[in-house]
Amino acid sequence: MKKIILTMTAALSLLACTNRQNPFLTEWDTPYGIPPFGDIHSEDYIPAIEAGIEQQSREIEAIVENTEEPTFENTILPLELAGGILDRVEGVLRNLIETDRTPELDSVMEKAIPMLTEHRDNIFFNKGLYERIAKLYKADQSQLTREQQMVLKKHFETFERNGVGLTQDKQIRLREINTELATKTQKLGNNIQSENNAFRNKFGISISDYPNAMTTTEDRALRQEMLEAYTMRGHNGNEFDNRQLVLDIMRLRIEKAHIMGYKNPAAYILEPKMAHDTETVDAFLSSIMVAAVAKAKEEVTDMQKLMNIDVANGKLPAGSKIEPWDWWYYAEKVRKQKYDLNEELTKPYFRLDNVVKGIFIAANKLYGVNIEELTDVPSYNANVVTTYKVTDADDNLLGIFTTDYLPRPSKRGGAWMNNIRNQYTDAQGNAVRPIIVNVANLEEHLTIDEVQTVFHEFGHALHGLLSQCNYPSVSGTNVTRDFVETFSQFNENWAFQPELLAQYAKNENGEVIPAELVNKINNSLKFNQGFMTTELCAASILDMKWHELESIDGIDIDAFEKQVCKQMGLIHEIGPRYRTTYFNHIFSSGYSAGYYGYLWAEVLDKDAFSVFEASGNVWNKELATKFKQTFLEKGGSEEPMVLYVQFAGRQPDNTAFLKGRGLK
Ligand SMILES: [Zn+2]
Repeated sequence: MKKIILTMTAALSLLACTNRQNPFLTEWDTPYGIPPFGDIHSEDYIPAIEAGIEQQSREIEAIVENTEEPTFENTILPLELAGGILDRVEGVLRNLIETDRTPELDSVMEKAIPMLTEHRDNIFFNKGLYERIAKLYKADQSQLTREQQMVLKKHFETFERNGVGLTQDKQIRLREINTELATKTQKLGNNIQSENNAFRNKFGISISDYPNAMTTTEDRALRQEMLEAYTMRGHNGNEFDNRQLVLDIMRLRIEKAHIMGYKNPAAYILEPKMAHDTETVDAFLSSIMVAAVAKAKEEVTDMQKLMNIDVANGKLPAGSKIEPWDWWYYAEKVRKQKYDLNEELTKPYFRLDNVVKGIFIAANKLYGVNIEELTDVPSYNANVVTTYKVTDADDNLLGIFTTDYLPRPSKRGGAWMNNIRNQYTDAQGNAVRPIIVNVANLEEHLTIDEVQTVFHEFGHALHGLLSQCNYPSVSGTNVTRDFVETFSQFNENWAFQPELLAQYAKNENGEVIPAELVNKINNSLKFNQGFMTTELCAASILDMKWHELESIDGIDIDAFEKQVCKQMGLIHEIGPRYRTTYFNHIFSSGYSAGYYGYLWAEVLDKDAFSVFEASGNVWNKELATKFKQTFLEKGGSEEPMVLYVQFAGRQPDNTAFLKGRGLK
């Protein structure tokens, strides 16, 4: 009976759809080529992916079958531009699955992941294609531009690193591993989202609001309960438990690293990064950890003094000690005492709308960028999404910028930037400008930390929007993971500059934030950095330790975490920023053996900012132009350190980084 109903439904929908063109299979004549979200149905994705795979396979076949000697123009260029349909589908699907997830999209993803993984493997195991690339790579490259050399190198390394040289049975195994990994990492991310929603249902706050709640909740037992719920996500023995998935993912990653000839996943992952090897990253993190924990211990002492007052007043039982669930709450009390700063007083000036104005004004002052809201353009959620046109000082289109800042259950936690379309030059020589989205989970009034988040994500957006490259694989944010955070974190440096606050930080009566509060904010920015650095560094070390494993035999997640935390010298009052079972970054989002990249890039961004400070004017237009031309326009078209030296005239040093975190 069921079968008949299914067949009938299929027949009906076929009839209903006969005159309808799948929107992914045509070029979009929408304004600025924004995806026609309103016309896209969930049943369009899989046929479009099938057509996209077929299209790209044909395009690649044509490259391989070319009997002429390989050149950049007949091999790399068509490879860069191949896969137009897949770019359109994935640009939309990968964005919506994170922001507006539905059961229909889940089942699309479930089907799409193995198809796309198999297709990628077919490309990377294509010997004929690899041979053309390798021949070019090993030949004299002096006729190529620097950007072309970087593109060529990227393709050559990508093939080598994806197993083109392996024997056939190893390739067969690698295919299985890649498909399993893609499916399991997606599942793990979905589980975290479900656990986040369970947290919201239990406590009535979104997961992103957790730090605020921990700061303002007086009820100590409730804080403990929230901390436990927060840190047990993915670890509750229910259908969303990630423990087995983590072990499965690690087992597969280790096997893959071994097949590729590396002793562990970290060694494999780090090789093409700035840091290059595990020894460098481990030494970098442990030096920070020592300084951060020492600072955190001072912070505990300060907090304990205030807790003792609560004990003396009979609010807490005698002998109460600072526990992990007390940190945010007492840190805020110390902040009030030391800096006389109360976030309830600053919040009215940081209305989300105003902060968005602030990021736009700063970009205009620094880089001459103009940003104007567009109406009547397609969007995937008209109630919450705002779209802007971004132009340069000469009114040339730079790209489309879309914001989606408000929380909802169908959205993943946290904040991020995404490319719906890359920047590049098309086959006809036309400039294709990017479509960039910033996503977050914010309330109407922002904390100081959240203001920084908005500046952070917009820094990524600028990196995407200002890109002036020719080839999509190196344009915009397509740079190594330990370099990419440089630009987002760099942009945070402007959030609380008094001249800028005067322009955007206004309360609902239009009154500008008083100078006294501005001073307090800026004085307090180094506050609690022992804790902040410790939890960030601890998560980075936890990530490294997972990916330095050479086997997961006998590994118990809890025991492993405990041992790693002990070895790194973590104090009882602080946990890693993410525990294993909800560490989305490293198990589901591309930061595996890469979470250190935030701290690594901070050395660069703080050093770059110190160049502005040393000039006596953080709005130094000449320097900003140099920064834009050296970094923001260049993407991955040159080695990061070469770009850095071009900008600063020297290698970075970590003084500004340590000072910025109050560790020196
Ligand atoms: Zn970032």
